[in-house]
Amino acid sequence: MISARRSGPGLGLALIAAVALLGSCRDGQSGGGEAAGEAGADAAGFSAPSEATRAANAAFEAALPLEDPIDFEEADRGLVAREPELEIRSATGRRWSPSQFAFVEGEAPASVNPSLWRQAKLNGRHGLYQVAEGIYQVRGYDVSNMSWIRGETGWIVVDPLSSVESAAAAVSLARKHLGDDPIVAVVFTHSHVDHFQGVAAVLPETGTGSAAAAVETVRIIAPARFVEEVTSENVLAGIAMGRRATYQFGFGLPVGARGYVDSGLGKQPLTGSSSFAVPTDAIDHTPQPMTIDGVEMIFQYTPESEATAELAFYLPKQRAFCGAEIVSRTMHNLYTLRGTKARDARKWSGYIDEAIERFPDVELVFMSHHWPVFGHARSLEFLKGQRDTYRFIHDQTLRLANQGATPREIAETLELPPTLARHFANRGYYGTLRHNAKAVYEFYFGWYDGNPANLDPLPPAPLGARYVEAMGGAAAVKQKARAAIGEGDERWAVTLLDHLVFADPEDAEARVLLASAYDQLAYRAESGVWRSVYLSASSELRNGITAQALDARQAAAILGRVPLELFFTAMATRLDGAKAAARDPFTLNFDFTDLGETHVLTVENGVLHHARRAADPAAVATVRLTRDFFLRLVTGQVGLKEVLLSGELDLEGSPTALVAFFGLLDGADGNFPIVTP
Ligand SMILES: [Zn+2]
Repeated sequence: MISARRSGPGLGLALIAAVALLGSCRDGQSGGGEAAGEAGADAAGFSAPSEATRAANAAFEAALPLEDPIDFEEADRGLVAREPELEIRSATGRRWSPSQFAFVEGEAPASVNPSLWRQAKLNGRHGLYQVAEGIYQVRGYDVSNMSWIRGETGWIVVDPLSSVESAAAAVSLARKHLGDDPIVAVVFTHSHVDHFQGVAAVLPETGTGSAAAAVETVRIIAPARFVEEVTSENVLAGIAMGRRATYQFGFGLPVGARGYVDSGLGKQPLTGSSSFAVPTDAIDHTPQPMTIDGVEMIFQYTPESEATAELAFYLPKQRAFCGAEIVSRTMHNLYTLRGTKARDARKWSGYIDEAIERFPDVELVFMSHHWPVFGHARSLEFLKGQRDTYRFIHDQTLRLANQGATPREIAETLELPPTLARHFANRGYYGTLRHNAKAVYEFYFGWYDGNPANLDPLPPAPLGARYVEAMGGAAAVKQKARAAIGEGDERWAVTLLDHLVFADPEDAEARVLLASAYDQLAYRAESGVWRSVYLSASSELRNGITAQALDARQAAAILGRVPLELFFTAMATRLDGAKAAARDPFTLNFDFTDLGETHVLTVENGVLHHARRAADPAAVATVRLTRDFFLRLVTGQVGLKEVLLSGELDLEGSPTALVAFFGLLDGADGNFPIVTP
């Protein structure tokens, strides 16, 4: 963990960043074994594309103007320089190079949806591009873009990528061609890690004396509540979200025509070092004009859209709108499959509408991902398309819901109108219409579809066992599943086989059949995310869990920045409620000698309460320790025996009570199975 100056009170990326640690399989090795042994299976075990898949992809190809060159022209426009031998290395020796994706060229193989293949080609371009007079972008060094805006004396850098290493590589390319004038300001467009974690690479060296003084002059502009959102988002649910993210991003998958191709938003980047800097300027209203180093910028505040804290801005001189991530060259996620709260489609669409209203002269749209849109007419068409895609999904989901339709029925019914669907930027490369419609439903109605049959059904394993029995046993289920696969009806085959695998996870034949059904669904998916999710499921069924678990030690380095309040709140979610409820209520004092803070914990009714206040004299024990020691303790780096003997901890009261308390907390390595019970 490299920290930039003013490194915050709470960089609680904790588990999001820990999620990034899972990404190690991406660096060149195959994530699959050779266990499956099917006819036509590749080295990682994935099946050959079936006839039905070939036909489905051919039909897709015929239905879309994939040859339309305009996106390729826009993606290549303004190329200043490209490093053909680009390779980025992490401090821990990982390597990342766009050459891994050199196979993405020419016609789509039968194992990749041709529309996704086209998007993967476009996302594979990398280099420094001049977007307009005084606006440059480094693209293809990370999943996100780093933009450079020319000021009177230096540069304004927008979104310094997701790791210090990829940002440093981008800076070095930019410096070669844009010169050495200082970076005078940094803009973080939003609170997602791929837009700020590389910041240390764009700030001057931190340190003492003049360097430290110089760094203080760099303004850092971010949306209001940026630090809070970065700190709090996903910490409590982070372990499960991290595990689910391995599916969403395909961390355990090999790169290849039968493996990971693209996320739809860009290529998964190098897993490198993360850094942070606390903003000096908050954007909290619209319009919020600012002049930075002579550059007039009109900020738009767009919270609770694509991110909880987000901004966009307009550069009147170039008539350029930076849409951050509220607009992209894909339908984005109203809900991410790793698991986040559903996003507000109406607000999101409303911000794009507001931008159209406020900046009617727009000549150019550039973004935090993907390549720009050039020209007034195209910019307007693009913005309207994005606006209406989210609004259409929102309004039509509610229209159908108000007629009594339930999420799966709505998702199955909805189609984008051809006027939207024919624009590639509105297609589901990252988010999809199907899962976004369900997200809108969930945003308004929650998880229950109103049908009492779905109120209290059996859980997957006993339900599976009953279904298998009702269908005439495992052999009969497999026969029906094979027939369904033969007809290209993998969605039904997956339902049948999922019941069978949950009924009997030891049935190797059922697992391989289910895996092969997922393969075909992956090969047909237009969404890079759906492809990764299906292939991850397939890989797990064939080879078990291959993506790495959270590393508690590395996570601890990050957890060290989370405020103690949040940490105790997270700790409460690890309390074994039933075990704790069986005990009489008790209280413990934690006195952090280095911070001068006392935290009083009470366990009662199976619930852990926490308050920062004066020590409770009735506590069964008072522990005096440092924050660092506490983190090592709760992440399992020091054992309880060492604790009781350690000079770093001073205990007053009952040692047994302390041991008993820690005995009530669950460990969680995040390596739970997903496609098996
Ligand atoms: Zn992003």
